[in-house]
Amino acid sequence: MKTHDWLNTYIPIIALSAFLTACGGSSSNDDSSTEAETETETETETETTTSTDLDEWLYNTTERSTMIFESSTSNIGVLEDVQGTSEVTVGSTDYIYVEASGIPNYDIVITDDIYDALVNRPKASNDFGGGTVLTSVGETVVFGEDIGYNTSTEYCEDTGGSGYWPPGPGCPIDLAKEQYLPADPQPATEICDNGLGATGIMVNGTSIFNWGDGMSEGNNIWYTLAPVAEFYDVDICGGHAANGEYHHHFYTSCLADLVGDDGSDHSPIYGYIADGFPIYGPYESDNVLAVSGWLKRDYGADESEGGCGTEGQRTCILVDEYDLSAGVDATVDEGPAIGEEVESLSKNTFDADDGFYYEDYYYAGATATGEQLDQYNGHDNNDGRGYHYHLTLTDEDGTLTPAFPYTVGPRFYGEIESNSMARCD
Ligand SMILES: [Zn+2]
Ligand SMILES: [Zn+2]
Repeated sequence: MKTHDWLNTYIPIIALSAFLTACGGSSSNDDSSTEAETETETETETETTTSTDLDEWLYNTTERSTMIFESSTSNIGVLEDVQGTSEVTVGSTDYIYVEASGIPNYDIVITDDIYDALVNRPKASNDFGGGTVLTSVGETVVFGEDIGYNTSTEYCEDTGGSGYWPPGPGCPIDLAKEQYLPADPQPATEICDNGLGATGIMVNGTSIFNWGDGMSEGNNIWYTLAPVAEFYDVDICGGHAANGEYHHHFYTSCLADLVGDDGSDHSPIYGYIADGFPIYGPYESDNVLAVSGWLKRDYGADESEGGCGTEGQRTCILVDEYDLSAGVDATVDEGPAIGEEVESLSKNTFDADDGFYYEDYYYAGATATGEQLDQYNGHDNNDGRGYHYHLTLTDEDGTLTPAFPYTVGPRFYGEIESNSMARCD
């Protein structure tokens, strides 16, 4: 939790540079230890078998980005998507070994909606150089192409991508990822909360991050949700980079297009969570969305029902967000009132409506059957897919909106191995 403590020291002057670490600040430290562990184990005993059974990955060994380059001195574009997967045995455990640059090959057609969202950004005059959006409706924008944003400088001047990301996040780089996913994933034997940094990998090699952005209010009590508080800090594919690592905190239609998900059936696999269980898109069946098991608290309700007793006031938190009957803790620092205006790290303002903070949610305990998901945001419907997670959306008056916990739940369902990209927090 140290990372959170540090990030929570909100100093406007360092706001922009702090953002770079805000959603993945722990990843540089984590990465080095992950690699160290991985290498040690690989050296012990590794058997490699090429597999023919891994069709869900988006492979590519020839197409290179025209916007993101391998180094500052090279004009060689980064290989997009996933370079290869294989079945590997380390010790006595089988893994899917994945090699990927972390750079996707998204091509985005600018629709009226996308264009309107760009020009109507509340800080458009500041977010775009000269206030001008450098694209128009009907154009196809390539991942990393300059659309006029005043992108922060990290990596952009070295390897390209400036102008594609709004101020705050820097540019992604070739991470030459080598990751191990358990080939025969097992349910966790102990509670394993996930934290900042990668919690999984999409089938195009981009990283999956969880709900958090590392920021909080009120002495580390009220944690903000990345898909909500970073609404203006993601690109037109709903992703951004932290320390060069491009990642998604929630569903993206850019990947849906690549995996051919039109909502007419159970979604295909979009990626794998670090425990080895697959994560599918938002649909459970034809036009039926999988449903998160997490609900928003009613702050006006009695304490016995998870409220604080006063309408619109965040004066208490749940003792256990997995068990309402454990009651509330009213000794904590109050959070902003429901609807109160708050400012994000990128200086955008939001109404802190119910659902703005992690602490606004609880797991309601509904039985995971049909489209209903469990606390981990997954289920097993005995439909041949085995246990699987879903990316979750909700239909709000005809608009599909990311639904908490968005990707994997706050806890992993499966066991996290020592050579995993993730660890228990
Ligand atoms: Zn992020
Ligand atoms: Zn399902």
